Amino acid sequence: MDTRRVDYLPYLILLLVAAFVGFMAWAVRGKSSQVFGPTIWHGPDDVRAIAVTFDDGPSESTPEVLQLLARYDAHATFFQCGASARRLPEITRAVREAGHEVGNHTERHPRLWLRSSGFIEQELEAAQRSLGAETRLFRPSFGVRWFGLAAAERKLELTRVMWSGIGCDWRLDAEATAKRLKDATRPGAILLLHDGREMQPAPDISSTVGALRIMLPWWREQGYHLVTVSQLCRISPIGPKSPGVSSSPSPKPST
Ligand SMILES: [Zn+2]
Repeated sequence: MDTRRVDYLPYLILLLVAAFVGFMAWAVRGKSSQVFGPTIWHGPDDVRAIAVTFDDGPSESTPEVLQLLARYDAHATFFQCGASARRLPEITRAVREAGHEVGNHTERHPRLWLRSSGFIEQELEAAQRSLGAETRLFRPSFGVRWFGLAAAERKLELTRVMWSGIGCDWRLDAEATAKRLKDATRPGAILLLHDGREMQPAPDISSTVGALRIMLPWWREQGYHLVTVSQLCRISPIGPKSPGVSSSPSPKPST
């Protein structure tokens, strides 16, 4: 009896280790995980509205996205890296002036796991300085959360936003990206695309732009309004320095 119990022990330990690793992977990367602090990953489903979000900008390719959004009277949220915003301040300005929302995506797009609380706070704080104090939303680079992140967000009064659907536009072509977006579209969806590729200068975002050319007319046809994350989730006014961005809780219909 005793011998059999000893035989099972290594398997039991392995199983527990595997379960712990699986749990940690989900806690750190899972889009809906709340383990490392409160996370918004979708909006209310009582209005036919979605929030399209763009990570990793600003880049030289962002203006093409802005032109397309303007053509469809669509508003979006851009999670930008502070260092890129300092390199291209006129593009960050243009994003806000067009009525879009800007969120914090760290200063230099690091992976935050296994980092100290001090490092994490510094990344968020530096990006706040680069992007402006009116920035109220935060999305972790690579979607990675870690110990110390929630405290840094609280200190800087940032609300963490993940997503309900992801286009994988950095590795798929326009059609495949658009298909993923169509499948993920439903009232209250928060969808993720990229107007940059990490911090690469002048990135090729042709699959992103191609997917938008397919999706913007489709969303209109389906009666979806494209609004900012703050508007969709009715979380807080964006701040007095964001001209053109309504803090009204009800998304306005696009025409
Ligand atoms: Zn990113």
